[in-house]
Amino acid sequence: MIPVSEALDHLFSLAQPLGVETVPLVRANGRVLAADVQARRDQPPFAGSAMDGYAVRDADVASGEVLTVIGESAAGHRFKGHVAAGQAVRIFTGAPVPQGADRVVIQEDVTRDGDSITLGANLDAGFHIRDKGIDFQDGQVVSAPRLLRPADIALMAAMNVPEVVVAKRPDVAILSTGDELVMPGETPSEDQIIASNSFGLHAMLQDLGANPRLLPIARDNRASLETAFELSSDADLVLTIGGASVGDHDLVGHVAGELGMQRSFYKIAMRPGKPLMAGRLATGAMMVGFPGNPVSAMVCGQIFLAPVIRAMLGLGHAATPEFTAELAADIPANGPREHYMRGRLENGRVTVFERQDSSLLSLLAEANVLVIRPPKDGPRVAGDAMRCIAI
Ligand code: AMP
Ligand code: MG
Repeated sequence: MIPVSEALDHLFSLAQPLGVETVPLVRANGRVLAADVQARRDQPPFAGSAMDGYAVRDADVASGEVLTVIGESAAGHRFKGHVAAGQAVRIFTGAPVPQGADRVVIQEDVTRDGDSITLGANLDAGFHIRDKGIDFQDGQVVSAPRLLRPADIALMAAMNVPEVVVAKRPDVAILSTGDELVMPGETPSEDQIIASNSFGLHAMLQDLGANPRLLPIARDNRASLETAFELSSDADLVLTIGGASVGDHDLVGHVAGELGMQRSFYKIAMRPGKPLMAGRLATGAMMVGFPGNPVSAMVCGQIFLAPVIRAMLGLGHAATPEFTAELAADIPANGPREHYMRGRLENGRVTVFERQDSSLLSLLAEANVLVIRPPKDGPRVAGDAMRCIAI
């Protein structure tokens, strides 16, 4: 058994970044930028008005002043003339400020009568002009790698960048194995259960930016497992679920070994999730074998799969981020393995659930944090600071 951090190191040395591809901006959200992007213009490209009002010379601004309106500047249609002393140009938000003007008086501060305006008694002190390039300047860089979010997409659109180079999504084949498993929607026999964590991990992988697919469920025999492995031969990562312990029917390690898998490690000192394995298959793909217990598989997804996918996407080698939160109620001492306990963080205090069995999906769905207990951690009391991972 190796500690979690050592397992992560092994996983990072197996996880290779996979090439890049170019996608249009409308497909770039949630992808990882793989090449720097440069602004192709200043934004705004001209000094523009931030308000609806009148563009004037600051020197002319005083309560009661009367100015002559000589034209109009609207968004997309600039006023081409020059504003001289005693003159004003009607202007709208986003319109270029005409030459000669250096201030916009908001329309609420003006009384208009034909072609003349009178400035009001309590003038707003603002100038309401956005200078050229205050948002970004031509050549300004958005640096890769970067997980793209909606604000990044808006920024790059404003930079006049229509498509971007992003990391390829890792193709992940999910292989569930067990004679007892059927797919959701099927009619199980008395002894069967529904494959569930394969669906949970598929969802998690989608959230992580991978391209997951579910293989047909393999039965607990060599031929069925071999067929399933063959179906995964084009994947970047093969994720097996179940059949990873040392029971008579746990064949994943044997079959993968016979197919040329070079094992990197097997078994980690954590709860839940002890029978984790990883290695490289003969196809060159990375393989990770998860335990079948639903909560074990999902917790292993948070602790191991998420960092692996981020590494494959070029986001570096980092464990899932932690934070600390105050314990809401006392909890007993921990056993000899690092324990990722399900709990719920509310109003800044975390309650660790009493029941921690690794088959309880209803409690996992209730949880919003994993509380990390080191091996042999003593009893903890309300108010103690606990290491947590958001789930
Ligand atoms: P195993 O790792 O094959 O010994 O499985 C441990 C437990 O997890 C058993 O109770 C299995 O029935 C269950 N299990 C295995 N695979 C899945 C799956 N894909 N979905 C839900 N439960 C599973
Ligand atoms: Mg099994």
